[in-house]
Amino acid sequence: MEFATFADRAGTIEAEPADLEIVAHVRELLAEAGDDSEERGSSKDAVKPQTLEIVARFAQGRVFPAWDSTTLDIGPNACYEAIARAAGTNVSAGDVEDRLAAVGEIGDVAASYDFGGQRGLSAFTGGGGAGSGSEGTGGDLTVREVSDTLEEVAAAEGSGSQDRKVDLLFGLFNRCSSEEARYLARIVLSEMRIGVGEGAVRDAIAEAFDVPAERVERALQVSNDYGQVARIAREDGLEGLDAMELAVGRPVQAMLAQAGTVTDALEEWEEAGVEWKYDGARVQLHHAPAGSGGATAETRVFSRNMEEVTDALPEVVEFAEAHLEEPAILDGEVVAIDADGSPLPFQEVLKRFRRKHDVAKAREDVSVRPVFFDCLHAGGDDLLAEPLTTRHDRLRSVLMEPDVDSGAVDDEDVEGLSLLWRTDDPDEIESIDADALEAGHEGIMLKDLDSTYSPGRRGKHWRKRKPDVETLDCVVTGAEWGEGRRATFLGTFELSVRAGDDLETVGKVATGITDEKLAELTELLEPHIAAEEGQDVDLEPAVVFEVGYEEIQSSPTYSSGYALRFPRFQGVRSDKGPADADSLERLERLRGQ
Ligand code: ATP
Repeated sequence: MEFATFADRAGTIEAEPADLEIVAHVRELLAEAGDDSEERGSSKDAVKPQTLEIVARFAQGRVFPAWDSTTLDIGPNACYEAIARAAGTNVSAGDVEDRLAAVGEIGDVAASYDFGGQRGLSAFTGGGGAGSGSEGTGGDLTVREVSDTLEEVAAAEGSGSQDRKVDLLFGLFNRCSSEEARYLARIVLSEMRIGVGEGAVRDAIAEAFDVPAERVERALQVSNDYGQVARIAREDGLEGLDAMELAVGRPVQAMLAQAGTVTDALEEWEEAGVEWKYDGARVQLHHAPAGSGGATAETRVFSRNMEEVTDALPEVVEFAEAHLEEPAILDGEVVAIDADGSPLPFQEVLKRFRRKHDVAKAREDVSVRPVFFDCLHAGGDDLLAEPLTTRHDRLRSVLMEPDVDSGAVDDEDVEGLSLLWRTDDPDEIESIDADALEAGHEGIMLKDLDSTYSPGRRGKHWRKRKPDVETLDCVVTGAEWGEGRRATFLGTFELSVRAGDDLETVGKVATGITDEKLAELTELLEPHIAAEEGQDVDLEPAVVFEVGYEEIQSSPTYSSGYALRFPRFQGVRSDKGPADADSLERLERLRGQ
């Protein structure tokens, strides 16, 4: 499939307001990609993805499957530089940035230039439509070539790699028409935003290859790869989809919780599962003991966003090697602890979580310990469809010392096991809550004991009860350079929440941040500066702040229509990306409470 065809279809989808029509367009796109005679990869060719797989990912702005934490590893500047070079001798990366500041969206900026592909086309065909197949510069770029080159961009590492990445991107832009460049730039910067959500791709796969949507959904949950699911649906139909399983080493999306009350939980479930809500960071542990897959044991640890954090958390690897005798996928939390084993606040865990260097040294200062509350897979069995009680029993047996009589051991003595109380007594729940707070944790989680594990779902089956007013996780979309002593620091951070594919502002947070913290925040945010004017800085959405506030008021000042009153900076949610920030809908719900 030519990339021009993909760009054309993406343009149609983007212009389409109706959800059902979007699904129909994506269905056609997938069917077209599947039938594409140009495609050379086959399912036997394990290395190269098929055009269909690439298109299913590109439509959502992904280059790699969701489970794969590979990134292109470039900043926006590399992309601006590549666009500028392809756009002609008199264009600089600074011009691209200026246009971005004026236009606000990289796709529009890229499409505003004439590239090699455009020039080649007009030279050879008089300018009409892409796809002339002209030599050298013009219009014959394929989806596969884009994917192959982006893979090369991701793989380039070591000295000189940033230049190599820019060269590779330049090579692509140089062969683009303006419309191709629009979508290429968005894919490169992970800003596709053509209105194709996960549900649309699921439904489109179901319709294109005539399989039920809920079976596509299940396959997506276990594989976490829209490309692979599309290919299998096309090649092997329902049988192929149903045969898809979890794989140890390939992360799945985490099940999430809603806020909720004990009264509601007990009314709905009669008996509730109650656990401590540990004040740490989510981890998904994948472990294959020696002999189960390879000759040596293999352990990988993933964050809530499926980024690999194995090297940063050697304690979790050591735990797995010491305790797990069968292949397993466990869901849990890592908690920071002091020398006596008492929990330290969440911010301490974050110091360890993404650390790439000096891990041994960091470990001396703050060590971590895993606590597991769920078991997704054990000894070859996928457990997503089992009720929580069964999964928890399995978790216990996975964590149990193998040569110990399990009947004689209390849950409390099973290392790494989160306790699960089953009760219909509100007083007992209160006392569990008090114990959790006493032990330095956040409160409790209430869980439906019969519920299955739904990856990626923030459903009613898990509810979190927190002692405090709810905080909000906001994307930082702007800032201001300080004055005087603080002239080299960014401050007065503009906060936004998600509203569909967009971000809407809700306020600015400036108070309660020390100079030391401001220096840290400046270092964190500076690489994400998208545009600057005077003291004002626009930031591309990348960093999420947790903020407290006194109340939510309606206000014409901010684009959301609401303002946070007395917003307070609580910390950086470095475990979250913009897509996980709170939504306008949640803001409205909190306001209504
Ligand atoms: P928060 O901001 O409250 O941490 P979140 O958006 O990260 O929320 P939620 O789904 O709202 O995630 O809350 C559940 C989170 O609580 C989980 O992601 C997990 O990290 C943490 N957690 C701590 N203890 C438990 C537990 N026993 N069961 C499930 N999740 C737990």
